Amino acid sequence: MSLKSILLIIALIFILAACASKQEDGLVKDTRVIMGTYVTISVVKNGMTGDEAMAAINGAFDQITKVDKLMSTYKPESQLSMINKNAGIAPVKADPEVIAVIEKAIEVAKTTDGAFDPTVGPLVRLWGVGGKDANVPDSKKVQDAMPEVGYGKVEVDRDAGTVFIKKKGMSIDLGAIAKGYAADLAVNALQESGIKGGIVAVAGDLKLFGLRHGGSLWRVGIQHPREKDGVLVTLKLTSTAISTSGDYERYFIKDGVRYCHIMDPRTGYPAKGLVSVTVLANDSWLADSMATGIFVLGPEKGYALAMAHPEIEVLMVGLDGKILATGRFKSLGIQPLQIPRD
Ligand code: AMP
Ligand code: MG
Repeated sequence: MSLKSILLIIALIFILAACASKQEDGLVKDTRVIMGTYVTISVVKNGMTGDEAMAAINGAFDQITKVDKLMSTYKPESQLSMINKNAGIAPVKADPEVIAVIEKAIEVAKTTDGAFDPTVGPLVRLWGVGGKDANVPDSKKVQDAMPEVGYGKVEVDRDAGTVFIKKKGMSIDLGAIAKGYAADLAVNALQESGIKGGIVAVAGDLKLFGLRHGGSLWRVGIQHPREKDGVLVTLKLTSTAISTSGDYERYFIKDGVRYCHIMDPRTGYPAKGLVSVTVLANDSWLADSMATGIFVLGPEKGYALAMAHPEIEVLMVGLDGKILATGRFKSLGIQPLQIPRD
């Protein structure tokens, strides 16, 4: 290679680096661990000082911490834990946010014909996927847990501000909707603080609004389900929520079978019809919960549901690598993936 071309490459690297830092110039970003995962909030300064933007970010993190304190099943003192402890005993008074999320969860459970079910708590605990004791439970134990699942036994009294799980042994798990809901609240807080554009990412649940510094759209990469740090496709977006549920997030493999963290409430076993599901919607609670619900429904029923609901746009990757897409995902021409056997 000639000296001239080496110099040209060095100059190009400098220009690219300068562009990258210039784009970063207008952004303020912070990452914290909340809800047992990484939460990153990035905002466009748009004339604000760094301190003002940071104050807005702090306010948004407070919203996510609030959701965690109210709805975590890992915190024995959370309102959700109180509701669960009082299953079959008494209605429990809860904050409007808890009532709202449980009501939304029941709504999604109805829409997905019970594939998404916030009462999967007993199954989640029995399988323990993601924990150190994860193992395939005795089939008798799975059968015994089944009567303890069923969103129809959750009674929300909005006027009294209470939630009652009517059967002892049952429990609510909001793990597939609360992260999205937290992202919604965080974005509201940012907007109320005068932020014009930003992204809130609660693990795989993203909510974005406005535009990037310089007026361009946000670029969001969808995780490749079998390549760590690989990107399946990149989207240019504004003001939307996007969530992905996949069998690669938390799982274990036993005797060549992959068991993931998403339960099929109809069988009591981890769902196994798809590899990943990405959902675009206006609200993050909806994108989050529908991604989980469609994952459980599998390719045929999941696709039919997606087609019947134009308020969501869906990208599914099948076990055979086949791509099923609705809405804008359809026009991306994503090629089938190679999914190696476990
Ligand atoms: P996500 O990663 O958003 O798909 O959410 C998965 C989490 O939601 C799990 O870790 C469980 O806590 C909970 N969950 C598992 N299966 C279901 C289901 N079928 N319906 C509702 N929540 C579920
Ligand atoms: Mg989800």
